[in-house]
Amino acid sequence: MEKSTSPKQIFIDPVCFMKVTPDKKDFTFTYKMRTYYFCAESCRKAFETNPDKYLESKSSKPKGWWGRYLERLNKATGGKSQKCH
Ligand SMILES: [Zn+2]
Repeated sequence: MEKSTSPKQIFIDPVCFMKVTPDKKDFTFTYKMRTYYFCAESCRKAFETNPDKYLESKSSKPKGWWGRYLERLNKATGGKSQKCH
């Protein structure tokens, strides 16, 4: 029962825009009270080095931040899933 098709919360790797499930607890980084998930250690380190470069937001409103985030994601991937490795 490890593989579930039911909708789970999906996080987006802010560095490469890959979708990351919360199962991947190995590559997380908490910044400004928010936990980010990454597909790999290299992405986590890149974010850790300069989080603001990847966020580009003052994150006053989480929803606005997330909406812009998804917009950028759609532009970056063209709606397709993407791999950075
Ligand atoms: Zn990545």
